[in-house]
Amino acid sequence: MSEVLVVIDHAEGEVKKPTYELLTIARRLGAPSAVFFGSPDQGDAVAEKVKRYGAAKVYVIDDAPIKGFLVAPKAEALQQLVEQASSNGDLAAILLPSTFENKEVAARLAIKIGSGLITDAVDVSAGSDGSAVTTQSVFAGNYTVQAKVTTGTPIITVKPNSAAPEEAEGAGAVEAFAATISDAAKGAQVVATQPRQSTGRPELTEAAIVVSGGRGTGGNFEPVEGFADSLGAAVGASRAAVDSGWMPHAFQVGQTGKTVSPQLYVANGISGAIQHRAGMQTSKTIVAVNKDPEAPIFELVDFGVVGDLHTVLPAARQQITDR
Ligand code: FAD
Repeated sequence: MSEVLVVIDHAEGEVKKPTYELLTIARRLGAPSAVFFGSPDQGDAVAEKVKRYGAAKVYVIDDAPIKGFLVAPKAEALQQLVEQASSNGDLAAILLPSTFENKEVAARLAIKIGSGLITDAVDVSAGSDGSAVTTQSVFAGNYTVQAKVTTGTPIITVKPNSAAPEEAEGAGAVEAFAATISDAAKGAQVVATQPRQSTGRPELTEAAIVVSGGRGTGGNFEPVEGFADSLGAAVGASRAAVDSGWMPHAFQVGQTGKTVSPQLYVANGISGAIQHRAGMQTSKTIVAVNKDPEAPIFELVDFGVVGDLHTVLPAARQQITDR
């Protein structure tokens, strides 16, 4: 069976959910091997986690020599791993979670190995010949595109929440991979980092549930945040809410904000402008609360509530906490 490389998304060895989604997707294309950039001390623990989702092998690349540098060393290490994997057998695809960093790594890798690259897929399946066929939502979500790479080993970045993680036991054999990093790849270094203040909520682009608020909140996000917390959801905002200074830009969903694709998206006091839709319309289930029955968001929703969010959300929260 062809090998499929899946780059693990983690924070200090804590594997993030998009990794399990990618391993699930990878099994449609071949036998997944996970790639862990991190401390070799954490390799076994990470392998234990990813093998539950079918990882046959776990390549551990010690990130100590490249820590503090930008993305070029990772691309160089992956190039060497891809060359080794290709010489050992058939390599069906390389999958990475769609983060800003991974998209740059993927682009650099594509140039290095002469392969085609598809970014921000919302689904990947095996075509009739077994090759990877991706689905993307493009032009502010107005078109859904099916595409495949025709040159080299397909490199695909996949958005979080594109698949429900499904367990399948893999061997999880740990293999250390020693990459040689050139001085040229270490040309840019991080000089300072500012940790983001934690909200205690899931990261917006990874959350399974997102509860957003717009201009209709009138600047009072308490009902939105309270409802979000009752569901363990991330909080999002429309640009109108961000431009009004009610929420930071990091919370903005849409064309000029973040793209989310959760299992459930709840839009509150948001009209449904095309630029907002661009960031959330691939959500699996969409619910809107809006006091205007003619609001365009209702064209998009699976469930709509016509009402004042300041009344509806506390009542909904009560129902949830009473259960
Ligand atoms: P409005 O359109 O004003 O809608 C507010 C809604 O709240 C109305 O439907 C109203 O009926 C409802 N409402 C009012 N009070 C209540 C209440 N008490 N209870 C329930 N409902 C209530 N927008 C984004 O969101 N994200 C982007 O990334 C983005 N990028 C853009 C990029 C460009 C180049 C441009 C031109 C625009 C962009 N916009 C973006 C802006 C977008 O066009 C809209 O202006 C914006 O999405 C509107 O935000 P809103 O829905 O919160 O506000």
